[in-house]
Amino acid sequence: MRRTPLEAFHLRYLCVTDLSAQVWCEQQAVYHKEKPSVQLPEKTTIVLNTGKSIHLARELQDHNLVPIKTRSREDGWAIKMINILLTITNLRKGQRVRECPVFGVIEGVFVFGIIDQLNYTAKGELQLNELKTRESAYMPVPAQKKRDRFQVSLYKHLFDAMVQGCLTQDIFIHHLHLKPKQSLGQEIQEHAQKAGFMVQCFEDLLELVLLNLTHSDIPAIDSLQIEYIHQKTNTLLGTEVITYNHDELMSMSHYFLAYWKGQRDPNGVDIEDTWKCSYCVFADVCDWRRQRADSLIQKGREKTT
Ligand code: SF4
Repeated sequence: MRRTPLEAFHLRYLCVTDLSAQVWCEQQAVYHKEKPSVQLPEKTTIVLNTGKSIHLARELQDHNLVPIKTRSREDGWAIKMINILLTITNLRKGQRVRECPVFGVIEGVFVFGIIDQLNYTAKGELQLNELKTRESAYMPVPAQKKRDRFQVSLYKHLFDAMVQGCLTQDIFIHHLHLKPKQSLGQEIQEHAQKAGFMVQCFEDLLELVLLNLTHSDIPAIDSLQIEYIHQKTNTLLGTEVITYNHDELMSMSHYFLAYWKGQRDPNGVDIEDTWKCSYCVFADVCDWRRQRADSLIQKGREKTT
């Protein structure tokens, strides 16, 4: 039997950004997994690194980064769990939080992401604020906005499900194959203790997170916005307020997940979006692009005969 892409790429879960990349070009998202050694142009790498630095500078406004050694996969996920507990604590106090992990299962696939920022507005509503940095000094084109809208909508869906108590222990064991009884590393235990949580094994932490989420009075996210920042001048280019459309999100997620579950082949861009190919690092090797070009040549020949 043919392996699904999830199996072929040895993926136990997908990131929100894996799915949002499909909004731009699914074929490109797949090539990034298939050909990880393909070098991004130097300019793209500089833009990505500058974006990371701006995100980091924002994060450091709220808290210091603590380097922690991990010894097992459970330790790695334990750090995310502790961050969720800290998020719950800080949101309960009405404080702003940054880099909040979110996860859940959509159509049988575990999906993980990190929300840039959550804060309460003057009206007391919980707002998600996503930061996007841009090399260009103008707002993104509609195709980029569509990808970003999908990304923040998916964050909201996952976060809301978490605070509504939809996560179960079984999800982490079944999808991620984590061992509940795995002892946590010394540094992880100490980090948890400093944050006010006594835990010894992964299951202790998992139970604590699920208990806190289930009994938290944290509301669902009320509003979504994306800030676009110009990298060079660090100035705000504009803010997009996103209207959450649950049906559209679920329909797009269903379509994208169908590829990962092996229910269909990947698609490249539509004919009206072929301009994206001129910015694509895989343009020279892209089968989708070649097939499109071949079929156009064939159609031209048919017209002239
Ligand atoms: Fe997608 Fe075009 Fe790149 Fe192919 S060349 S992966 S269709 S953007």
